[in-house]
Amino acid sequence: MAVTAEPSFRQSVDIMFNRAVAAMDLSPGLEEKIRVCNSTYTVRFGVRLRGAIHTFTGYRSVHSEHMEPVKGGVRFALSVNQDEVEALAALMTYKCALVETPFGGSKGGLRIDPRQYDEHELELITRRFAYELIKRDLINPAQNVPAPDMGTGEREMAWIVDQYQRMNTTDINGQACVTGKPLNAGGIAGRVEATGRGIQYALREFFRHPDDMATAGISGTLDGKRLIVQGLGNVGYHAALFLSTEDGARVTGIVERDGGLFNPEGMNVQAVRDWLVEHGGIKGCPEGSYVADGAALMEEECDILVPAAMEGVINLGNAARIRAPLIIEAANGPITAGADEVLRNRGTIIIPDLYANAGGVTVSYFEWVKNLSHIRFGRMQRRQEEARHQILIDELERLSADKGLGWTLSPGFKEQYLRGAGELELVRSGLDDTMRGAYQSISDLWHRRQDVTDLRMAAYIVAIDRVAKSYRSKGL
Ligand code: GLU
Repeated sequence: MAVTAEPSFRQSVDIMFNRAVAAMDLSPGLEEKIRVCNSTYTVRFGVRLRGAIHTFTGYRSVHSEHMEPVKGGVRFALSVNQDEVEALAALMTYKCALVETPFGGSKGGLRIDPRQYDEHELELITRRFAYELIKRDLINPAQNVPAPDMGTGEREMAWIVDQYQRMNTTDINGQACVTGKPLNAGGIAGRVEATGRGIQYALREFFRHPDDMATAGISGTLDGKRLIVQGLGNVGYHAALFLSTEDGARVTGIVERDGGLFNPEGMNVQAVRDWLVEHGGIKGCPEGSYVADGAALMEEECDILVPAAMEGVINLGNAARIRAPLIIEAANGPITAGADEVLRNRGTIIIPDLYANAGGVTVSYFEWVKNLSHIRFGRMQRRQEEARHQILIDELERLSADKGLGWTLSPGFKEQYLRGAGELELVRSGLDDTMRGAYQSISDLWHRRQDVTDLRMAAYIVAIDRVAKSYRSKGL
């Protein structure tokens, strides 16, 4: 049935879910059980600031507990509401299942504009919100593990873990109560860049699938491809930076709150980000020409459109004018169900959010495991690996000398081969493996079944099937 009026975010996710289950063989009861959000806790709490009590509203929504802990970020934004956290929690369930992280889905949000408060005030507010959630086990290493999302980052996660540890002084696994922490507070190398890195790995994998590229009418490699990125926050910035500096893509458009920048030759992403951090907007940045109507820039011709900010930016109002043949959803829910249908009918290929931005939760999983095992990845193996490699190099050099072959190994090779993998290398390897494997599972299904018409439908089917199996094995 055609989507003619814009649904809410939650309804949008349900429409996508329903398209997928229509092609599955689930009992109606189980279907309903998976679709519904298990619970949403709303808290209103007061904090004394600037001589007066300020009341804040926060949420923590648990979509599915088929596996525990449940996982999902905490968002600080004025737009936070129950419909939004529930939609985001549902997406977390499907995302975790798709990339095989052993978690259920959850999400939290605090209705606040973080830019209106100084650091000390934000710490008071965050700690108070965390306190409310911790005392109800809505933050807990075994039950519910938040992470950063829009408006939050390492700093907020450090406050949350400290708050948890103050309230649970004998919990030896306390550090695992939240992920996305700074390294010195139990974080993991590569978590900050993880979602952007995941976007890069997802696109690289797409470009290893010639049939999928042909469906989008795209050929060649990422080198020289024109990218328009909407949102230069943590996700958009890292994705654009890696794709331009490591894969040769050209970032021709950047859309931010205060407008857009356009440059057909491609922009230096780091320079734009530095400008944005210094000036609070992109207007005036010499990297490209300024366009006041930033949203219109998403309609410009390009090869890949990367919506990396928030939900609903591609909707019934602009979908028909989007010209990119390939869209990768770096944000959660950037394309509404109505827009999704318009774009699908036009043959646009969409790499869906639940797969594309799963790099964040994947590395969160590694961080959680690191916290529970109380040891940094690579600590035991690194030098042993180097020693074994050294044996091989020594033997090659001895053979060459004995037989008078005159071989000399290039210093670059030796240095690279000898270096054992540290935490960052292992995290990247695990993330790359995850992104490749998950793409293959959805692309295979898309090609194998005629009735699976697109990557989103395939991703939902793979994810829902795993959640269903998990419920069935529990006897449901
Ligand atoms: N907020 C991120 C997301 O939407 C990360 C969640 C996590 O690491 O738990 O996927």
